[in-house]
Amino acid sequence: RSSLSPLGKINSIINSYALARQKEIDTLQKTAEFRKEFIADISHELKTPIFSAQGYIHTLLDGAIEDKQVRLKFLKRAAKSLDSLDVLVQDLLTLNQMESGVIKFIFTEFDLKLLIEEVIEELEHKASKRKIKIDFSFDHEKTYITKADYQKIYRVCQNLIYNAVKYNHDGGEVKVSLKSSKSTLQIDIKDNGQGIPPDDLKRIFERFYRVEKSRNKKDGGTGLGLAIVKHILEGHQSKISVSSTVGKGSMFSFSLPLIKDKKTLEKELAENK
Ligand code: ADP
Repeated sequence: RSSLSPLGKINSIINSYALARQKEIDTLQKTAEFRKEFIADISHELKTPIFSAQGYIHTLLDGAIEDKQVRLKFLKRAAKSLDSLDVLVQDLLTLNQMESGVIKFIFTEFDLKLLIEEVIEELEHKASKRKIKIDFSFDHEKTYITKADYQKIYRVCQNLIYNAVKYNHDGGEVKVSLKSSKSTLQIDIKDNGQGIPPDDLKRIFERFYRVEKSRNKKDGGTGLGLAIVKHILEGHQSKISVSSTVGKGSMFSFSLPLIKDKKTLEKELAENK
């Protein structure tokens, strides 16, 4: 039973109403701030490749077009800037669609080991150019069937393994390992590259967030990769975890469900008898 007088009760109701309103206002203000910040971020990111392409094209128009060698070089650079603009816009669209729930996940059963092998094969050329070795370890006796969205998990592995190459030093090493336990598959992607300072580590999954040093890197990406990874894994009820030591390297891990094939199930059943 409340010991408050009728007036006290009214006051308490008004207070809790005011508190709820204040919370609502705070949320709205935060959303508005976030939106403002986001638009500023996008504009900044879009400007870089646009300015660059614009610069080359205008220089060509101002006369550089006469020189065949310069012409080719500048056109290639302008094309490269426009390509990175395309990647940026694509990534933004993907992220936006994921956040608004427009993108549907298509779950099928497939062998995660084969997917990882395919990703590594695709990235091997980029890695070998900088003498980086990508090593993949798994148990040859086991099967690694999972149920997930193939294309999206491909994207996750591609982003993580490519980052492990990008932020590594020449001659570095990337170790990918696939392990299975009772009902899950765990993927670890480990590099011995530059590592990530603790303060940045908390923020690398935010859109556009990049550790200062990687901002000016030649093949630095859009800063959206890890935000996309996080979203895709959330759609699989999974989470990405990371540990890192500056100067030593980083490890990114996530897990997916293990689907046992008939042979494994029969073997387990026999063993339990
Ligand atoms: P980007 O497109 O810049 O690679 P990501 O979202 O994939 O963006 O990563 C965000 C930032 O996190 C990167 O810019 C980089 O600073 C840092 N990062 C990601 N992976 C690694 C890694 N394996 N080693 C060191 N730093 C990393």
